[in-house]
Amino acid sequence: MPNPLRNLPSVNQLLESEPLKKMVETVNHNVVADGVRTFLDDLRKQASKATEEMSIPTASEIATRVADWLEQSEQPVLRPVINGTGILLHTGLGRAPLGGPAIEAVADISGGYASVELDLATGNRGQRIQAVEGILCELTGAEAAAVVNNNAAATMLTLAALAAGQEVVVSRGELIEIGGSYRLPDVMHCSGCRLREVGTTNKTHPADYENAIGEDTGALLKVHPSNFKVVGFSSSVSLAEMVQIGHRNNLPVIDDVGSGALIDFSRFGLTDEPVVSESINQGADVVLFSGDKLVGGPQCGIIVGKKKYVQQIVRHPLMRAMRVGKMTLAALKATLVGYRKQDLDACEIPLLRMLSLSSENLKLRADKIAEQIGHLPGFSAVAVEPCQSMLGGGSVPAQQIESWCLALEPEAISVDNLADRLRQGDPAVIGRIQNDRLVLDVRTIQPKHDIELIRLLTELGGG
Ligand SMILES: *Cc1c(COP(=O)(O)O)cnc(C)c1O
Repeated sequence: MPNPLRNLPSVNQLLESEPLKKMVETVNHNVVADGVRTFLDDLRKQASKATEEMSIPTASEIATRVADWLEQSEQPVLRPVINGTGILLHTGLGRAPLGGPAIEAVADISGGYASVELDLATGNRGQRIQAVEGILCELTGAEAAAVVNNNAAATMLTLAALAAGQEVVVSRGELIEIGGSYRLPDVMHCSGCRLREVGTTNKTHPADYENAIGEDTGALLKVHPSNFKVVGFSSSVSLAEMVQIGHRNNLPVIDDVGSGALIDFSRFGLTDEPVVSESINQGADVVLFSGDKLVGGPQCGIIVGKKKYVQQIVRHPLMRAMRVGKMTLAALKATLVGYRKQDLDACEIPLLRMLSLSSENLKLRADKIAEQIGHLPGFSAVAVEPCQSMLGGGSVPAQQIESWCLALEPEAISVDNLADRLRQGDPAVIGRIQNDRLVLDVRTIQPKHDIELIRLLTELGGG
């Protein structure tokens, strides 16, 4: 049998072809040459495995295929996504989207130098936290604040600074895991303190804390079990009771509230979320929460509380390893300023806006999109139906929010295939597959993306 690979073009020959010459200009010589070699190797492997004679593509076919493939792989891995999952704080999709003022603040600060650690009024060295400490104290009623990379960092740093080498008392009902890689017992271990579990999974009483306190105790820790709920025969010790016990024994009480509601979310029908200012009000010494959950800001971990403890925390050497940059501080400040507005529409925090969208508004938008794509041959059915959005991101597990969705049934392809194509679109669209239909919840789709979504669906539907 004649060797079919005998006519395979050389790497140099391919690099001289039109499409690849262009790639070399836009990407770089080494990347394209490596791509060509890999492609030729794969082709040789395929040919050696093939049982019957394989037709070998021509040089120009190979060049075009390598160019297409390189173009695909040069697309950024981190790309914008239209979120049709209905999960408002989707950790895999970057949690809270930033609002206009936060985006502008980041753009403004990041392109040049900024007064990150310079007090412009005096010309003296300033503290990084000065950008946001005032407003964090104003919104939470705390005496002092610090900001780190995320709430996991906030927890680790706080425990390391206040209780390393000592015991930290936690209820067995609050030893949570969040998203796999965050497990409270492991975080505590890393911070150098010892976990002292008290109570049981479903019931913990004040006396359990009292009895556990001894010479070795460094702090009491309360954790909001944000992503699960114990129902039935259960009781836990309130923060106010823990504060009494802690302060009687001269111990700091740390409250990890998780999502960090700065306002009462019961206005959106979400009643399980502790409000940060209430924790401070009830006497918690340190309160910890994320910046990109219910705050609706950038990824960060926020520490607020008594000055004495916050000072101890920021002086710990780990603080430097966990500190945030100017972009985070700028986005956080601009987001927090939104909370000064009484009117939710004026605050320009997308998370709060999405939560406050009315059912009528959502249905109207779903109807409009359905009208545009319903007739396309690629869809055998396009329905507008009620559905339920979820907060996600480890917040409020038991509560769902009434919403409206588009339910798409493709005509000639499978629903998985439809989901694949939308996911690989530009921008990517992510939905949920339910009963053989692709469901897109309108609540988490930003209204400014409706037109783009219609364009993508029209392309797929063959309009
Ligand atoms: C989400 C959450 C965390 C982890 O916060 P990250 O900002 O993701 O690090 C920790 N504790 C609680 C209670 C949470 O809900």
